[in-house]
Amino acid sequence: MTPDEPPPPPLSLGDAWDYRDSEPARARTSAVAHLHTPAHAQASVLRAYLDWRDGQLPQATEEVTAAISTLRLGAPSVWLGRGLNILAALQSTLNRADRAVELYEEQVALARHIEDAELTATALHDLAVELRHSDPHRAHAHITEALSTFRQLDYPFGVAIAHANLAEFARDQGDLTGASQHLTEALRYPHLDQHPHLEASLRCTQLELQLPLADPEAARTEQRLWDLQAASRNPELRASVALTLAARTEPDRRVGLLSTALNDLRVLGDHVLLPDLHEQLSSAFEQLGDLPQALTHLRETLAYTRRTHAAERRQNIQTFEVLSRIHALQDQAREERQRNQELQAHLQELRALNARIRELGRTDHLTRLSNREHLFTEGEHLAQTATEDTPVSAALIDVDHFKVVNDTWGHQTGDLVLQRVARMILDVARPGDIAARYGGEEFVLLRAAPVEDLRDSCHDLQQLIRLHPWHEVAAGLRVTLSIGVAQVTRPDFTQLVGDADRRLYQVKREGRNNVSDHD
Ligand code: GH3
Ligand code: MG
Ligand code: MG
Repeated sequence: MTPDEPPPPPLSLGDAWDYRDSEPARARTSAVAHLHTPAHAQASVLRAYLDWRDGQLPQATEEVTAAISTLRLGAPSVWLGRGLNILAALQSTLNRADRAVELYEEQVALARHIEDAELTATALHDLAVELRHSDPHRAHAHITEALSTFRQLDYPFGVAIAHANLAEFARDQGDLTGASQHLTEALRYPHLDQHPHLEASLRCTQLELQLPLADPEAARTEQRLWDLQAASRNPELRASVALTLAARTEPDRRVGLLSTALNDLRVLGDHVLLPDLHEQLSSAFEQLGDLPQALTHLRETLAYTRRTHAAERRQNIQTFEVLSRIHALQDQAREERQRNQELQAHLQELRALNARIRELGRTDHLTRLSNREHLFTEGEHLAQTATEDTPVSAALIDVDHFKVVNDTWGHQTGDLVLQRVARMILDVARPGDIAARYGGEEFVLLRAAPVEDLRDSCHDLQQLIRLHPWHEVAAGLRVTLSIGVAQVTRPDFTQLVGDADRRLYQVKREGRNNVSDHD
């Protein structure tokens, strides 16, 4: 791109996925642009794919695992399927075939569930390749299904790749004829000229099959490979084709072919094909009688092999570490969730206990009515509402000659009397009333109503007391109450209780067992 050329417009994530192989840099820009949007998990899947293709396995593993966790929380989606596919491929690289198979199977199930035929076929195809050696029978069934789906979808690239793999499967079984038939099918791919890598790889296999079969077409295939080699500027393609062609050429020409490929490929740094090139060069020099050169290249082969194995192992160890760290985190998260649930349960217990303690703090434990403290705070609140039109009334209720009850029948009987009186006060109370034990054998009933109203309730209470079978509590026991009632028409709780108290003592003085008149 020259400076005056405008940069290509940013791609949507969906388009970026489609361009991931043909324009990886552009796809990456789009992925990065979406990392801080609601579609960050999808963007991470794409970036993981690109990192994986760049050989950044630990990074890819970390990204795709996080993305999968997020995507699993939502509805099943094609992006989750893609993520599973990448993680499966990574596990496969680590030789964790069982885990890879599990992930591919999950991808197949998901793809079928969301009825995405292309994703299903891709998953089946990759699962088949994974099962190629361990379960060739199943592998064959899956790839055949994938192939027929690719055909139905009119997806010629999928068809070609499936045939190419079927050719390899057939070769595994020693079925060279079957293998070349599949290769022929793969080579029918209409856009083969746009995929020189694919063609080179297919033609190399084709030549390897044609030679033992003494196929007269072998010469044409070989020529096509020479053409591909000459036309391509890609060092990787040139090297892999050179390796296939080298076996068919005279040693001196072979040295030239391989040396050129080697020098081109060195630009890319350590490459998987380097040891093969050195090894073949070594044997070519040996045939030419140049033993020092043969030895040099053999040494290089070993050095590269050692180095690439070491790098690969380092990479794999790092990826393993990422995976085990993620597993540890998942375990931790599980434990934390469990701990949270326990804490939640404890918290609820504590809340209940707290409510109970507060309740106890408000309650008189003998009678279960409000205690004196609660009476004063709530009574103040209720008195605040008093006006000329909405008076607030109080009844001060005292058990007559209660000391005699205690002295004659004992404290326990006295307690029982207090509990029954309290019960009867509640019976005449209305919702919103405050019924409290004021102290000793004295009770208070507060009501946001005119005093006549409350006095009626107090007469009802007297009636209940009169009718109560006290003799069942203790032979000869009789209980009566003296009650002073008052009201306020302005917010003054002290005045209210003081007036009720004065009237109570008036009732006492006038002979007890009565409710005060209000005047
Ligand atoms: P009066 O008719 O003038 O009100 O006479 P009284 O005997 O009821 O009044 P007094 O104040 O002389 O006696 C109240 C008694 O209540 C004294 C006390 O021992 C008793 N008392 C206070 N609290 C309790 C309690 O919780 N249980 C029992 N059994 N007795 C209590
Ligand atoms: Mg008293
Ligand atoms: Mg009394």
